[in-house]
Amino acid sequence: MSTRGINVTLIDPLEDPFHNSFSSAAIPFSAFSDYSIPPNCVSKEWNSWQLIDNKSTRFRWRNDHPLGMILDFGLLRKEMWAKAKSSGVEILNGWKVCSVRSFDRYAIAELLDPLKKRIYRQFTWIVDATGHSRSLLRLNEKKLSDNNDFLLKGSGLEFHIHNSYNLEDWANSLSFLIGTNWIPNGYGWVFPMNNNILKVGICRLDPPFYVKKRKPLNYYLKNLIKALNFDQCPVIDRHGGIIGSTLKRSEPHFDGRVIGVGDSVSTANLLGGEGIRFALLSAEMLSRYLIKACLLDSPTIKMETKLLRNYQNALKQELGWRWVLSSRIARKTWLGLNNDNADDRITRLLSTLHKKVSAEDISALLFDYRFERYGFRIVPYLLGWR
Ligand SMILES: Cc1cc2nc3c(=O)[nH]c(=O)nc-3n(C[C@H](O)[C@H](O)[C@H](O)COP(=O)(O)OP(=O)(O)OC[C@H]3O[C@@H](n4cnc5c(N)ncnc54)[C@H](O)[C@@H]3O)c2cc1C
Repeated sequence: MSTRGINVTLIDPLEDPFHNSFSSAAIPFSAFSDYSIPPNCVSKEWNSWQLIDNKSTRFRWRNDHPLGMILDFGLLRKEMWAKAKSSGVEILNGWKVCSVRSFDRYAIAELLDPLKKRIYRQFTWIVDATGHSRSLLRLNEKKLSDNNDFLLKGSGLEFHIHNSYNLEDWANSLSFLIGTNWIPNGYGWVFPMNNNILKVGICRLDPPFYVKKRKPLNYYLKNLIKALNFDQCPVIDRHGGIIGSTLKRSEPHFDGRVIGVGDSVSTANLLGGEGIRFALLSAEMLSRYLIKACLLDSPTIKMETKLLRNYQNALKQELGWRWVLSSRIARKTWLGLNNDNADDRITRLLSTLHKKVSAEDISALLFDYRFERYGFRIVPYLLGWR
């Protein structure tokens, strides 16, 4: 937008882009070119899938060319901030937006500067890009469920470890560990980075009801690290985060002069815990509609509301029915993964897929949600009906 002569300010409490670089940042190959990701943010390409069941049986699918990449998430943040700055965006690192009051033609944002001083600034539009916290749209869990939708929320914990002795088991693969011995209601992962670093993580969905005495994520991650013989490896970084989306994405995408983008409007997909390319997609789409709104000759609230509604509808259409189906499958799979039957079902599914499909097909299933590629026969398995 700044390249179109519109004044843009980016505000983020983070001072250092590498601080809490929580995302494992695995993306499919297509996302790299579709969203012009800076090439130096790619830490490693991957060309195979490795899915490990509850009894540690490894199912592997190899491809002869890369299927995707693992990004350095901190570097991605750094590069995107630098790109924004060079195109004229004002960057306020170390600042936080505390609240927003919308008026007919403008909004007043209450900011906290790095010295914790309150400052009020006027903007025409405010974009809520605060991720799962949806701090500015103030869509809390209650409001989201009042909307007759369901918030699917999970938390993840990841260590970066330095490992140089059994690298070939993990290099070039996206590895997922699925089963209640690894973690109930979730999964573990091992992704390679450059310089012999592995991202080793664990995440799980929160059940929709209160569960007593859930062991902490740290417990499962330490067990996983031990089981994979990584316990002697130095840990270089520890971080964690939350990922959450509504099942139907039916929440309002704007409120007054605040408009949501990325995780704040549920673009993250919970099947594989993936959200970077959808956040970028929504940002690209929103910028098209916001440019139109900013360049209107004599704007009225009606005209602006129509543009923002069009943004919400266009984004819904772009993500499509597959996105919604995959969320349902995610809910069924991860929330149902809490007993021996579910473990057996996962093993049967992996074994069937291993016999029948290629590495590219697994990518099409887990990244493009192309369930019909094997016929819809697979869907009942995924949904746990068989
Ligand atoms: C453990 C984990 C692993 C993941 N792995 C993957 C993966 O492998 N691949 C993938 O594609 N996705 C993955 N994701 C999801 C992905 O990281 C997110 O979907 C993506 O980062 C969403 O981008 P965003 O810009 O909407 O939000 P975020 O990346 O969360 O950015 C929100 C920003 O808003 C800032 N902010 C917060 N509050 C305020 C405020 N009040 N004022 C100003 N700024 C504020 C924050 O500091 C932050 O920089 C993972 C998520 C988690 C939790």
